Amino acid sequence: TERTLVLIKPDGVARGLVGEIISRIERKGLRIVALDLRTATDEVARGHYAEHEDKPFFGSLLEFITSGPLVAAVLEGPRAIAAFRQLAGGTDPVEKAATGSIRADLALETQNNLVHGSDSPESAQREIALWFPGLT
Ligand code: ATP
Repeated sequence: TERTLVLIKPDGVARGLVGEIISRIERKGLRIVALDLRTATDEVARGHYAEHEDKPFFGSLLEFITSGPLVAAVLEGPRAIAAFRQLAGGTDPVEKAATGSIRADLALETQNNLVHGSDSPESAQREIALWFPGLT
């Protein structure tokens, strides 16, 4: 079994899609280990997106991710990391996300793409420690 860190980003909370997204997670069979509504601090946001700090969209991404409440969660299950990324779909909701995925079905823009999921076991461990320091 494996764990992954998932965010329902501020656009998902603002649009009232928390239930829809959690419902898809539960129907897939992933178990919710931790779940919390909070507004990300600048410090946590910078830590979370450290790999993107040299990208042109970094400033905008930080502003977006700290713009309002988001839902942070830890999910558990067999191949949880890949399973959630399949549910989410590719980063660009129109050009990359597969039909039937959260992003393809519910989002239009690459930045405001509703969800985040860890992309590797190393990222998952780092991100779970960042968002839920008490959990492990
Ligand atoms: P996440 O890490 O949030 O699951 P991802 O792994 O699909 O997304 P990354 O390439 O790691 O995508 O980008 C992280 C986030 O930065 C994206 O989810 C999106 O919100 C934003 N982003 C990525 N590329 C762009 C871009 N070209 N313009 C604006 N925002 C972008």
